[in-house]
Amino acid sequence: MNKEIFLCSICNINSGTCLEDCKFCSQSVRYKADIDRYQQKPLEEILKEAKSARDAGALGFCLVTADKGLNDKTLEFVCKTAEVLTKEVPELRLIACNGTATLEQLLILKKSGIKAYNHNLETSEKFYPHICTTHPWSERYETCKNVNESGLVLITGGIFGLGETQEDRISMLESLNSLKPSSVPINFYHHNEALELKPNSLTVDEALALVQLTRDMIPDAERIMVAGGRELMFGSRQDEIFNYGANSIVVGNYLTTTGRVVSKDLDMLQSLHLEVATSVK
Ligand code: SF4
Repeated sequence: MNKEIFLCSICNINSGTCLEDCKFCSQSVRYKADIDRYQQKPLEEILKEAKSARDAGALGFCLVTADKGLNDKTLEFVCKTAEVLTKEVPELRLIACNGTATLEQLLILKKSGIKAYNHNLETSEKFYPHICTTHPWSERYETCKNVNESGLVLITGGIFGLGETQEDRISMLESLNSLKPSSVPINFYHHNEALELKPNSLTVDEALALVQLTRDMIPDAERIMVAGGRELMFGSRQDEIFNYGANSIVVGNYLTTTGRVVSKDLDMLQSLHLEVATSVK
C-alpha cells in the first residue's frame, strides 16, 4: 500500500456557463441543471478557498473553468489568479483545468505560476461521440500533447459509468498511458436528474477493480487519483480504494456536487496509517 496520499482541492473559478454538450456534465447550459452559475469567482473568495485547502493539508489546488477551452479573457483571469495565489499561498501547487489549450496558451499559464495542467480524455475515442458531439476527442488528445510539449506536468484521466463497455475503458486507459501522465484522475459518474444519461450502474467491487486496472495499465503515473463521485460510488467502502492503487484523492467539494468534510477524509487516512503528502516531485 502507498504510504503517502496526495490531497487535491478543486476550485470552480467560473461555473455552469459552457455551451458544449458533454452528456455527463451539469455545467453545460443545455441541460439546465440546478447548479450555481457565475462568470468569474471573486479573487478574494478564491484566495480564501486556497488558504483553507492548504490548512486542510491539500498540496494541489486546481483552478477550473467551465468552457470548451481557453480564450483571451479566461487566460488573463487564470493567470492573474495564479500570480496572486503563488504569492499568497506558495505552499500550494497550482493546477489549471481550462479545457482545450494551445501550446502558446499553456506557456503563458506556466509563466504565471501554474505547474500542471489537467485535461481529461473522458472516455475511449470510439465511445466519445455518444457522450459529446460538439468537439472531438482528438482535440482533447492534442491538448494533452501540448501540455507535455509545454513542460507543464500533465494530469489526464476520465470518467467511468457513462454506459461505456469494458473494451472502451481499456482503450481509454491505453490512450492515457500513451500520453505518459504524471497523475490520472478517475471519476465515477454522479447522476444529475437534469442529464439524460442513465445513472451509473457500476457496483463498488467493479469500481474498485477499475481503480486497480487504471493503476496496472498506467504503471509510470506517479498518482492515481480518485476524484469526482468518490463518496457516491464507494460509500462506506471508500477506504478500500487505497488497497487498489489509489494514492491521491480530491478533498472538499467537487465542481457542482458537495464532497464530505475534509476532517472525515483525514480521519480515514489516519485510521489506515496513511500519511498526507507534504511535497511532490
Ligand atoms: S467542455 Fe467541459 S465544461 Fe463544457 S460541457 Fe464538456 S465537460 Fe462540461
